Amino acid sequence: MSALSTKLSSTFGKSIVKIVRSSCSNYCTAPLKETHIMLQKTCRDFAENELKPNASKFDRKHLYPAEQIKKMGELGLMAMSVPEQYGGSGLDYLSYAIAMEEISRGCASAGVIMSVNNSLYLGPVLAFGNSKQKEEFITPFTSGNKVGCFALSEPGNGSDAGAASTNAQQKGNSWILNGTKSWITNGYESEATVVFATTDKKKKHKGISAFLLNKPIKGLSLGKKEDKLGIRGSSTCNLIFEDCEIPSDSILGEPGFGFKIAMMTLDAGRIGIASQALGIAQAAFDCAIEYSSKRLAFGQPICKLQAIQQKLADMATRIEASRLLIWKSAVLKDEKKPFSKEAAMGKLFASETATYVAHQAIQILGGMGYVSDMPAERHYRDARITEIYEGTSEIQRLVIAANVLKEYGY
Ligand SMILES: Cc1cc2nc3c(=O)[nH]c(=O)nc-3n(C[C@H](O)[C@H](O)[C@H](O)COP(=O)(O)OP(=O)(O)OC[C@H]3O[C@@H](n4cnc5c(N)ncnc54)[C@H](O)[C@@H]3O)c2cc1C
Repeated sequence: MSALSTKLSSTFGKSIVKIVRSSCSNYCTAPLKETHIMLQKTCRDFAENELKPNASKFDRKHLYPAEQIKKMGELGLMAMSVPEQYGGSGLDYLSYAIAMEEISRGCASAGVIMSVNNSLYLGPVLAFGNSKQKEEFITPFTSGNKVGCFALSEPGNGSDAGAASTNAQQKGNSWILNGTKSWITNGYESEATVVFATTDKKKKHKGISAFLLNKPIKGLSLGKKEDKLGIRGSSTCNLIFEDCEIPSDSILGEPGFGFKIAMMTLDAGRIGIASQALGIAQAAFDCAIEYSSKRLAFGQPICKLQAIQQKLADMATRIEASRLLIWKSAVLKDEKKPFSKEAAMGKLFASETATYVAHQAIQILGGMGYVSDMPAERHYRDARITEIYEGTSEIQRLVIAANVLKEYGY
């Protein structure tokens, strides 16, 4: 039994048994083991009870879901692939994908906070940190009490991440950081960050290094909290470094290895964002099904109208195809096989599916889709970001095309 399963059993007691036995018929469960199904149902239950009823409030008030993130930490969801020796759940990436979908189905903001902590922050520390760094920067960030962030993008470059103008200069036993990182998720709440800075400009992207530092710290200030279209329960802001002095052993991995660390981190992170998109799509679909089965027009529920059924069929098919693509990429990663192409395909397809499904859900709800009394408009706003962060859809297509051409020998 995994650490998370143990935690789940002790948290939910007998109800976990009921959860495992209850039907899961609306989902493809093809590659899932019993522990995956148990996790899926537990996360769904948590999302249904703790996230869904509050998601609208988090969105409207720009409220960070602190209490829920703490509970997610207690459930083992904030450090899913981190080995138990560091306080994590020691689960596979498929488990992470499953949990991310369910959590995002309840609240997309909680989804992105979880995703950043798991894959963008803990992921690179676990993969590239030395034992001292792992002790300091992993264990305290597994419980939901503390979250981390990942600072790669800059005002002048997002997709072109190799053009980092934030720089780090060595001075005695320290590094001095200067520059601005933009759009940083968890920027306000995070107590540590992985940050990328140029240490040797001549070498271009091979002169970028990754650093690990605690927040707050002298020389680092935060920009305003961005007023976003969606995922409004998560904070996004600039990190502004002005002569920020950090110890020389703050470097993560080898000097000059930063760009590689960023790309490897984003490869895995995309599985999380794809799952977030899938959860949003599923939530929008749930809403469309429920509404269309109750709303009467011309003497019958609108779900009996073939025009509505055409939409429901296309939505369901795209959701299921997304899920299979995502799970395939997660399984490949778990099997230590190349997964970049599949992760990019999953992220591309699931994010465009989320936007498509949320758009259609609004159409099915008619006027009720356009007002905040119903969650459809929030799903539509939340969906949009999944086509932008951790690589835009255009960048995913470049990744996929490069891999496909390589497979054909070009
Ligand atoms: C809410 C939010 C949260 C975020 N969180 C984080 C975070 O935690 N950490 C972090 O580091 N970053 C974060 N980001 C930044 C995000 O990853 C970038 O916004 C994204 O990578 C795109 O970069 P950009 O905004 O600079 O757009 P640009 O790179 O300027 O792109 C603009 C347009 O040009 C297109 N384009 C660019 N290059 C190409 C190309 N070669 N071929 C075809 N089209 C191209 C893009 O696809 C896009 O359509 C976040 C962004 C947002 C909005």
